[in-house]
Amino acid sequence: MAKKRRVIRGMPISAGIALGRAQVILVGHLDVAEKPITASQVKAEIVALDKAVDITSTELRDLRDSASRKMSSSVSRVFDAQLLIATDQDFLKKVRIEIGVQRRNAGFVYYQMIKRTTHQLYLSNDQYMRQTAREIEAVADRILSHLSGLGEKSTALFGGDIIPVAKSLPPGEILSYRHRGAVGFLVAEGATNSHSALIARSLMLPMVVAPNLLNKVPSGCKLIIDGASGRIILNPTDQEWADYQKQRRRHGPAIISRIRKLKEFPPTTLDGRPVEIAANLEFPGPVDDILAERKVPVELYRTEFLYLDHNDVPGEIGQFKHYDRIAEKFSGTRVVFRTFDLGSDKVMGDKPAINEPNPALGWRGIRSMLELSSIFKTQVRAILRASTRRNVSILLPMISDMSEFRKARKLISQSMLELRRKGELFDEHIPIGIMIEVPSAALMAAQLVEAVDFVNIGTNDLTQYTMAADRSNSRVAGLYNAYHPSVLSLIEITVDACHFHNKPVCICGEVAGDLLSLPLFVGMGVTSLSMNPAKVFDSCRLVKKIDSQLVQHLVDPVLSSPSAASVMRKLQNYKNAIDNR
Ligand code: PEP
Ligand code: MG
Repeated sequence: MAKKRRVIRGMPISAGIALGRAQVILVGHLDVAEKPITASQVKAEIVALDKAVDITSTELRDLRDSASRKMSSSVSRVFDAQLLIATDQDFLKKVRIEIGVQRRNAGFVYYQMIKRTTHQLYLSNDQYMRQTAREIEAVADRILSHLSGLGEKSTALFGGDIIPVAKSLPPGEILSYRHRGAVGFLVAEGATNSHSALIARSLMLPMVVAPNLLNKVPSGCKLIIDGASGRIILNPTDQEWADYQKQRRRHGPAIISRIRKLKEFPPTTLDGRPVEIAANLEFPGPVDDILAERKVPVELYRTEFLYLDHNDVPGEIGQFKHYDRIAEKFSGTRVVFRTFDLGSDKVMGDKPAINEPNPALGWRGIRSMLELSSIFKTQVRAILRASTRRNVSILLPMISDMSEFRKARKLISQSMLELRRKGELFDEHIPIGIMIEVPSAALMAAQLVEAVDFVNIGTNDLTQYTMAADRSNSRVAGLYNAYHPSVLSLIEITVDACHFHNKPVCICGEVAGDLLSLPLFVGMGVTSLSMNPAKVFDSCRLVKKIDSQLVQHLVDPVLSSPSAASVMRKLQNYKNAIDNR
């Protein structure tokens, strides 16, 4: 019987088209509902559990056999290990007993016992233990999805193109699923400027947010997601599959071929002022070559993303090789390496997140690196060693106070001294800049800017901290808006301070790639706008249509607007006028 086709409208987060099989991720993302049961229902719950275990075991056996035919023996060994976990009779016996003792549904009891086991393993410093915890979770996901009726027997869940379907996916998991064949992501919770969204866009993989989707998408079903429109198709027709397959082929190369068309770089305004349009990068990827060829600078390289799927940061040599390859590729222009901005939702590998009541206000960015100074200095030495072509800068994230900059600067000086002692070469005049992304830093820009070589304004965080609205939380997305006059005023204060001290200022949050904002930021006099590579071409085209003198008149009316909506209206009117010219 044909599976029921269904179309769901979601919120587009990252463009692109994915065709694959849904892999519903439950453990760690779903609170399996607790249901009291009567003594007479205990047996039925145990039977249901045993059946889910049976289906899972057959599935894993099939996967192991298919992996040993088509893939490496290491993949088939993973399924072998998972099979042992799924059929661990001692554990299953304890679950059966607990169902009777607790008089609770099998899913709930099983889930609680799994969580207890994996929690212990995750606390261990032993990588093998933590890997085992992950395998246990993967098995539990399968058993729970069959137990809840969401599962659909499929041997294509690994090894083929998969679309993880989860309540939410932190940045590290996006990378980890990418390595396991993910071609797109479907989440119930997420927002446009979350770090996970940035990663998906950087990987050029589609992501769509659709609340309450976990109970609508069965694991294993065929799925198409269109990250530009937010359209999700479950069990599409063959014709739809074929049509979307054709469209998918056009996405990645389209970005590259548009950048290739750039004739003049940097673009100049109608009155001849050059405006630097730069790129934000996170990983080596298919667009790097064309960006480097067109001499598009990288004003923000988010280095932490290179290692989020590692359990530990590589040492100096390992990092140096990485940064040096990037610096060499961009030798015709510049690369700004931001030191690790870890913490909050950016947790490395399978390390548990630090338990903090307000992680975004906690041990994040430069705050953690000043304490973990040996990790910081190792990274700084690696960046310094990659600076011999004199095209590299160092950028410090989340500076909220002058003392933080001074401490970081001291550690950088110590790192330089260490390299000099060893006779290692580096750029002695390497520019050192800061991210201004915390209101305190923007309000004290006059003092901070004097001490640094350049400033990058991070509007993603500046908006979240100014509006007190979590950038990853779609519930407060109505408040989270970089066009809010309060955020723009902080930007203006910072830009003015940079003009006063004659220091370059770049905007590198997501709003920099938004065409609506470009005339305003040029009017304020920012030196450069750094954005996702997909936005570079359109931004360059728009620069050529504006007059840098005229757009200065946008600034005052915008800053005195009462709301983000009114700012956006004014900017839209202006943009319509230039588009119609
Ligand atoms: C920002 O906050 O605007 C920024 C560029 O940094 P990230 O998005 O990496 O936090
Ligand atoms: Mg930031």
